[in-house]
Amino acid sequence: MKKCIVCDGDISEYSEISEDVEINGWKCNECEETFFTSNEMLRWEVLTGRRPKNVRKVRKMGSSLMVTLPNELVKNTGIHSDDLALFKKVKEGILIEIVHPEAA
Ligand SMILES: [Zn+2]
Repeated sequence: MKKCIVCDGDISEYSEISEDVEINGWKCNECEETFFTSNEMLRWEVLTGRRPKNVRKVRKMGSSLMVTLPNELVKNTGIHSDDLALFKKVKEGILIEIVHPEAA
C-alpha cells in the first residue's frame, strides 16, 4: 500500500465530486491530505472547462485517430507541412520526434 507523502500514514482510494465532475485519487487516513494523479487532474480540468492550451482532443478519421498540434508549439519548434513525425512510446506517453526531410 502507498503511503502519504505528508505524514507517511496509510492512504485509501478516494473520490469526490468537484464542480459536478467526479475526481478519483487517494486520501490519507491520518492527516486527510488528498492526492490525485496528473492524468486525473488533467481530466478534471478538461471536464470543468479549464482545458489548458496544449491539450487536444483525439478524433477519429476513417480508421485512424488524429490530433492537431497546438499553434504555439508549431511556432516554437519550426514544424511545418511535409515534415515527418516519428512516434516513440515512452514511460510518460508518446514522444514525437520531428524530422525535416530536406535537411536529411
Ligand atoms: Zn497524511
